[in-house]
Amino acid sequence: ANRLFHSEDSVYNIKGKTIGGKNIALIAGPCSVESQQQIEDIAKKVKRDGASFLRGGAFKPRTSPYTFQGLGTAGLEYLKEASRKTGLPIVTEIMSADYMDQFVEYADIIQVGARNMQNYALLKELGKINKPILLKRGLSATIEEFLLSAEYIMANGNDKVILCERGIRTFETYTRNTLDLSAVVAIKRLSHLPIIVDPSHACGRDWMVSSLSKAAIAVGADGLIIEVCEDPENAVSDGQQTLTPFCYKKLVKELRVLAKAV
Ligand code: PEP
Ligand code: MN
Repeated sequence: ANRLFHSEDSVYNIKGKTIGGKNIALIAGPCSVESQQQIEDIAKKVKRDGASFLRGGAFKPRTSPYTFQGLGTAGLEYLKEASRKTGLPIVTEIMSADYMDQFVEYADIIQVGARNMQNYALLKELGKINKPILLKRGLSATIEEFLLSAEYIMANGNDKVILCERGIRTFETYTRNTLDLSAVVAIKRLSHLPIIVDPSHACGRDWMVSSLSKAAIAVGADGLIIEVCEDPENAVSDGQQTLTPFCYKKLVKELRVLAKAV
């Protein structure tokens, strides 16, 4: 992952959409896939409003085992259908290497969530496949630990890693996590890998997402992954940090202006 071995920024082309380089990649969609209708409707809306990738969790790493755990394989199938109808590539989280074949078939970018950043057995298996991996920073991981986790994937043969800063745990409890934008600046210097920002999980509050998104682009992030759904109040997970399509659209407009300036 070190720039010493690769001075140019890595750029990936994923079904005609790029991540890395001059482009700003926008990934949007609900926290969880809830139904076929839900994911297809929101896919159409975020596409219309400027997203180039669709996110949605089918296997959910929930803090409590008593809350919604995701639709599993059915969720992957709904994502695939939403992708087929909109042309948006899919970003979705894997939690166990047991499901590798399904993820290789259904996902265009496989996400490793914060809680699995140091699941080295999983990272090694992801190193053996030929798919881009979106690796999220662990809840308490240092920048060095984060980059070494990327190395676990790359050392096993898969060099298509996208990093994601999603906030870290600090003493502050007002926000869900503390967004570490300095990590973006540091990683841009240390590594050639693209790094995107997840403002939604970083702050946990919908009204902060827009400002943090702009700040992320201003410091040089290669893209954003943002939770968007039709009816955040009734979402099965993370509604409090999820934007409506209306707010997402407004944000994308503002980001386009900003992107030209930075
Ligand atoms: C997610 O993106 O749905 C998610 C669970 O994020 P994180 O792993 O960053 O908490
Ligand atoms: Mn979420």
